Amino acid sequence: MPDLPVPELLALDRQHVWHPYGPMPGLQEPLVVESASGVRLKLRTADGAQDEVVDGMSSWWSAIHGYNHPVLNDAAHEQLARMSHVMFGGLTHEPAVRLAKRLVDISPEGLEHVFLADSGSVSVEVAVKMCLQYWRSLGRPAKQRLLTWRGGYHGDTWQPMSVCDPEGGMHELWQGVLPRQVFADPPPATYEESYADQLRELIARHADEVAAVIVEPVVQGAGGMRFHSPAYLRVLREACDAHDVLLVFDEIATGFGRTGALFAAGHAGVTPDVMCVGKALTGGYLTMAATLCTARVAEGISRGEVPVLAHGPTFMGNPLAAAVACASIDLLLGQDWQTEVQRIEAGLREGLAPASEIEGVRDVRVLGAIGVVQLDREVDVRAATRAAVREGVWLRPFRDLVYTMPPYVTGDADVTRIARAVCAAAREG
Ligand code: PMP
Repeated sequence: MPDLPVPELLALDRQHVWHPYGPMPGLQEPLVVESASGVRLKLRTADGAQDEVVDGMSSWWSAIHGYNHPVLNDAAHEQLARMSHVMFGGLTHEPAVRLAKRLVDISPEGLEHVFLADSGSVSVEVAVKMCLQYWRSLGRPAKQRLLTWRGGYHGDTWQPMSVCDPEGGMHELWQGVLPRQVFADPPPATYEESYADQLRELIARHADEVAAVIVEPVVQGAGGMRFHSPAYLRVLREACDAHDVLLVFDEIATGFGRTGALFAAGHAGVTPDVMCVGKALTGGYLTMAATLCTARVAEGISRGEVPVLAHGPTFMGNPLAAAVACASIDLLLGQDWQTEVQRIEAGLREGLAPASEIEGVRDVRVLGAIGVVQLDREVDVRAATRAAVREGVWLRPFRDLVYTMPPYVTGDADVTRIARAVCAAAREG
């Protein structure tokens, strides 16, 4: 099929395509990506000129190995030749079994059972269903609310939306319609005993109605790119154990090394009862996520009046995605990924240091392969993106934040370039 000329492609895009968090079709002006390789996106411009940008976003934090990676390509091709998909109800296959085993092996000790979902949001839905059903099975159906801290983000489907930031978050429109959850203040960056007490008190007070606490460990991502002390995770674990509440860690953004630990839970040495992973699970190649739980949760559900977890999306356990996920995990663990993430962390610290001098910059923070510049105003996304692209980098600022989460294979010169682009976007956006 011949390529559409860019103006025609953009006209059709405007006419018909609804982009994530986009307005009605017709108001967007996206860049056209022709291909991607390594850390670079090759763009098609209207005048036919060649252009490329370094991806400072890892395609929403997923493409940790970069694009067009020979190892992941081979895994996909090999699996494609066998089968790209087959239903998972009543059937099983090696890619899913291998992936479940690998996930159990590398996850915090005690997580034993794996549900393979088809997106991060769905894996959170599954986590919530697991927790509510667990308490129902144990004869405590009143425990059906969730407790979380404000400023979080867990996805765009119904239950996940209900535990996203209720004020000023992306789902404000639905307040009053979504399930009513219990919220704590957002966790401070450093450990404060008074905040820990607030968490303990809230969990104790709502224990009769709360099935689970759900949080993003160490980094609150799309709700505000905030970092907090891992010590709060231990406070949650203790309070949940003391009051018969399950603990869910949403590691969809933080999993697979992004914060410098394989899972952010590792910074605190805590095992949750349920854990969600996604995004980098397949190295950003295919859509797959997973919900892991302990034997206690699985056995509890199995003892109930309805002893099955009633969830079975069509593309659950997709073999193509599972095969690539196995290859991606092997690729990550087969190298000194910690040193690579530390190298990027050091590069971002150095490159973003000048950002604190920029007018209107409120905070600059770096953790693992995450660099954030926070402004005292809403970013003009269009102007900020234009500034970054001019510097040869793709970024997607939001709210008052310009940030980067580059692939771990980003070389030093490109890390410097990304940091320069973040500064330019903060200055001009
Ligand atoms: N949880 C967290 C922490 C996330 O960052 C995201 C995605 N940004 C999700 C859940 C939802 O994942 P998905 O976009 O794959 O549905």
